Amino acid sequence: VEKHLRRMNIDAAKLAAGTGSAAADPLVPGDNGRMRLRASTKPVVLVLGSGWGAHSFIKSIDTDIYDVVVVSPRNHFLFTPMLPSTAVGTVEFRSLLEPVRTSNPCVTYLEAECDSLDPHSKVAVCTAKFSHTDGRRPQFEIQYDKAVVAVGEQPATFGVPGVREHCFFMKEVSDAVALRKRIAEKFELAALPGTTEDERKAALHFVVVGGGPTGVEFAGTLSDFVREDLKKKYLALMKYVRVTLLNNLPSILTQFDEKLQKSAASTLGANGVEVRVNVSVVGVTADKVQLGGGEELPYGVCVWSAGNMARPLTKHIAGQVPEQAMAAEAIKAPPNAKLCVDSFLRVVGATDLLALGDCSLVLGNRLPPTAQVAGQQGSYLANMLNGGYSLGVGGYNQPPPYMLVKRNKLQEATEKNDGLRWLATAMMGGRARIQVAADVSDTLFRMDCPPWVRKHSESLTKSLPLDAPPSSASRECDVDAVLAAAAAAGGADSRALHRARAACLESYEEEIRAERSDAAAAEVRYYERPFEFLNLGIMAYIGHERALTQVTMFDVINLNLAGTFAFLLWKSVYITKQVSFRNRVLILFDWMKTRVFGRDISLW
Ligand code: FAD
Repeated sequence: VEKHLRRMNIDAAKLAAGTGSAAADPLVPGDNGRMRLRASTKPVVLVLGSGWGAHSFIKSIDTDIYDVVVVSPRNHFLFTPMLPSTAVGTVEFRSLLEPVRTSNPCVTYLEAECDSLDPHSKVAVCTAKFSHTDGRRPQFEIQYDKAVVAVGEQPATFGVPGVREHCFFMKEVSDAVALRKRIAEKFELAALPGTTEDERKAALHFVVVGGGPTGVEFAGTLSDFVREDLKKKYLALMKYVRVTLLNNLPSILTQFDEKLQKSAASTLGANGVEVRVNVSVVGVTADKVQLGGGEELPYGVCVWSAGNMARPLTKHIAGQVPEQAMAAEAIKAPPNAKLCVDSFLRVVGATDLLALGDCSLVLGNRLPPTAQVAGQQGSYLANMLNGGYSLGVGGYNQPPPYMLVKRNKLQEATEKNDGLRWLATAMMGGRARIQVAADVSDTLFRMDCPPWVRKHSESLTKSLPLDAPPSSASRECDVDAVLAAAAAAGGADSRALHRARAACLESYEEEIRAERSDAAAAEVRYYERPFEFLNLGIMAYIGHERALTQVTMFDVINLNLAGTFAFLLWKSVYITKQVSFRNRVLILFDWMKTRVFGRDISLW
């Protein structure tokens, strides 16, 4: 344990004394009868969820600065991309999980569901997942300073009758466990004497609704399971087995390139999966899937992976902030379906409230609801909070999150020549917005920095007054705009540049004078850069040791692969993307076990 803590840079004494998971009773009644963190002197960051977004957040958040409380009905992180593999036993359930308490032992984890959150009074009401022996389910309130909503979404049935009652979803480990059991049950039922031909056909008809990555991966892995394992055990039943994939769109895997879509359909077809497109399911009964046009498909197991919808908590939070409906309307999105956030992931219209992952919608930059996005957003937010950025209210017309730095600190940094190097680099990338432009121009002149920074810094300082500051009162400067303006001007109007620069330096002198009399003015604001998604590509397993890989990066790399090489890539990416060494070892072991002994078909 000590070794593990040391690796995670966690002091055992801090754990024992602090409020983290190790504390027996981390929440105690505080003022107003609300629960507070025991002996908390640090700002409280409440994290809702333990999925991709929340997990990457809690892995990176600095618990020396914040008391982090994680509330989620699921006490573990789940590596969702491999969930279909667990439903047929290629890998074991536990290999895909990491307990929250292991992810970061210094956070306080509470196994509960957040029922409501009031963004105005900053209080969240939660109910425990389990009840005491007398049937009482503990309820508590948490007063937070900042909250991160990462509750994801839940499967959508689109109002199709019978789906909730009769179909299996593919969202949580419990779904995959139940599905694996049902598949085994259907084979045993079909093998019983006295079962008629029609009953066998129905029992062994596996219908998958949804032609997205989850549905396709499940259909592909199921056909592997049938061909590689069940065939050896139930040879006589093989003639009854059918796997049907239904999609209401003209093709499957629409997020992939057209060629890859066709390749997926033909690979699935060759492996015995019947792919039917342009069909919509209008109802599901206990034994039949009803299609539009009146057709009925008798089935044994139906898996529903047709899409997701907002959780009640997301709707509840959005419903309390009037700006949310306005923001959704502006981008023609359905109201309250997601939490609209600005490019800094601040919930529009709410103070100190952040949202990420599937439950959020970034205004002006629609991102796909994927693990990749949620994971990157989680570490972005943690780094922003670790940097001490003050969040304020979310929204386009609001100032971006900023960090206040004392001018004398800046002076020190200039002398030491370290912090300023960062500042210059950030400016060169066009990523920082510096309020006191003249101050920075002056500092950059004095910096002992590498020649390439100086080269750019000179053109930057020259150009600063051209476009900025927009008003001499705030003297705010957008480096992106300045750089663009400088490039466009090309130094043509040098007299104007000179004049503006002189004016800027003059006001800088004024500010220095003011600074001597007013200590509060001796602060510089550094603005946070917006979240930028780095798309690393998409992948999908399509069965028979084949996969699709599509990578488009920087408008230069365009890699579309289908087949065995893509499968090897899929395997290596998923192994490296595991969240811990333990998970990596477990999965490698599972893959080896499956190859040598086959998948386990026992019922439990
Ligand atoms: P989630 O990971 O869904 O986490 C939500 C968390 O919130 C959960 O811990 C949940 O228990 C908790 N929660 C729910 N309600 C509450 C509440 N009221 N209070 C507190 N906590 C609550 N993406 C990819 O990029 N690549 C893939 O290959 C891929 N494959 C996938 C395969 C499957 C089978 C599935 C289901 C998804 C796949 N995805 C994939 C999508 C990816 O899993 C999601 O985009 C990602 O999980 C979103 O992360 P999140 O943090 O927003 O939400």
